[in-house]
Parts: sequence; C-alpha cells; structure tokens
Amino acid sequence: MLQVSTVPELRAALQRMPRPVGLVPTMGAVHEGHLSLVRQARADCATVVATIFVNPTQFGEAADLVRYPRPIEKDLALLEGEGVDLVFTPSVDEMYKPGFTTVVHLDGPALGFEGEARPGHFDGVATVVAKLLLQSLPDSAYFGRKDAQQVAVVRRLVIDLDIPVTIAVMPTVREHDGLAISSRNAALSEEQRLAAPAFFLALSAMRDRYRSGMQDAAKLEEGCRALLAREPLFEAVDYVAVVDEQTFAPWTGGGPCLLVAAVRMGDVRLIDNAVLD
Ligand code: AMP
Repeated sequence: MLQVSTVPELRAALQRMPRPVGLVPTMGAVHEGHLSLVRQARADCATVVATIFVNPTQFGEAADLVRYPRPIEKDLALLEGEGVDLVFTPSVDEMYKPGFTTVVHLDGPALGFEGEARPGHFDGVATVVAKLLLQSLPDSAYFGRKDAQQVAVVRRLVIDLDIPVTIAVMPTVREHDGLAISSRNAALSEEQRLAAPAFFLALSAMRDRYRSGMQDAAKLEEGCRALLAREPLFEAVDYVAVVDEQTFAPWTGGGPCLLVAAVRMGDVRLIDNAVLD
C-alpha cells in the first residue's frame, strides 16, 4: 500500500494505477463500517484509494475536533489488511492552502436535521468531498448509509457540479446488539453503551410497523419518539422524521423514504436511520 500526502503525489500515483478507481473517504479511526466500504470498493474496482482526513471545516466545536481520535498507524494497518492500494493522508494545509475561500454550499438535502443541529457542517462536508473527488477523479466513491443525509448531499452535489462519478451507498454496519458502529461510541460510558441499542430497536420497531402497513409519517414519528422517551439515558431527541431519501424533504408518500433520528447521551450525539421499504 502506497501512502501519499500531497495532491500532486496522489495524481501521479493514480496515473500509474489501473482503472476503475474506487474512492473511500474517511476521517480515520477506522472501524468495520469503513472496512465494509473498502471491501465493496475492492470487489468492484481495480484500484482502491482510501483517504484519511479529519476535516476541520465540518466540525462545529473546536473541542470536538481536538478530541477526534487519530490512531493513524492502526488505521493504515487495517486499510492495508483489506487490500487498499493507495492511502491519501493530506495535512490541513495541503487541503486548505493559504487564502482558501471557496465553499460548496447546498440547500435542499442539507437543510434541517444534521444541517440544523450542526450549522456549517454540510458546507464543510460538501467542500471536502468535492475536493477529494476532483483530486482523485475516481470512477466510484463509497459512502455509508449511516450518514444518510450526507449521502443525499453528496448525490446532489455530484449532479449539480457534473462530477463524473458513481456514488455507491453501503448498508449501516452494526454492533452485535444493533448499535450503529461509530468512532463516537467509544465516548459512551458503560451504562450509556448498554442503553444505546434502544435507539436501533426504536427505529427497527417503526420499520416493522411500516412494513405491516402503517405508512403514516406522523404516526411513525410519534411511535418512535414514544419508544425513545422510555430510555431515560436519551437525554434529548434532536429530531425524528420520515423523509424522502433523495431530498430529505418530509415524506408525503411514494418513493423511497427513511426514518432518521438523532439522540443525545451526555456529550455524545448518536445518529441513525431505518430504510422504510
Ligand atoms: P467518517 O470517517 O465518520 O467520516 O466515515 C467515513 C465513511 O464511513 C462515511 O461514508 C460513513 O457514512 C461511513 N460509515 C461510518 N460508520 C459506518 C457504519 N457503521 N456503517 C457503514 N458505513 C459507515
């Protein structure tokens, strides 16, 4: 596995590598969720490029950015173990040169939910994803459904900016008890960790209700809130909503939809969703 840290090195390395190229963007702290993306890219593509970049512009609080885990040696070993060909580990200065001022801003799917809870987050995500796609010009780029609103934002931005890439979306990888794997789970106390699967169970219960014919968005949202309210360690519920998968507008029947939610346990914010199909 080759590791490069500058854009010219990335481009030069890719010129020597066979197509199709699959890109897996990450912020590191690699876990099974990331590895599922890498495995799919490995199955689909002749060359797999992973990126590790803790993107400061998508963090709200400086403290959150500072405490974000950066186990780089372990990450590199995990990626190499899955057969990644090239890993791009740019510095902040490499990604944001002096005078940097361009922002990729979306309305539409970036409005509400995570966009509201984390002002500026999707500007940061859209800008860095656009940059990574233009730097590497992959045939496909792989994202996780766990961050469903991010997927909707990325899909919209590649259409709007005519970036010639196929966006592949992989299912959420979960712990044995259903909790969506996330680097943030490590910040949960033992007690919070034991309670956390109630989040997945609430979403799953509503998915089952949807499948058994109860397809009223307001009732599904209400049912989900009622189940979440039973767990006292969910100190706040930021949102619960049934949305159109592509636009993140309220779902009004017809077309693929998602039940999306965010809960707070102490300092930790968990997001998850269920595909209603
Ligand atoms: P991050 O490092 O958190 O920016 O995540 C990098 C990519 O991995 C994003 O496309 C995420 O949606 C995806 N991802 C994170 N957690 C999971 C998970 N539990 N299952 C599947 N994909 C995930």
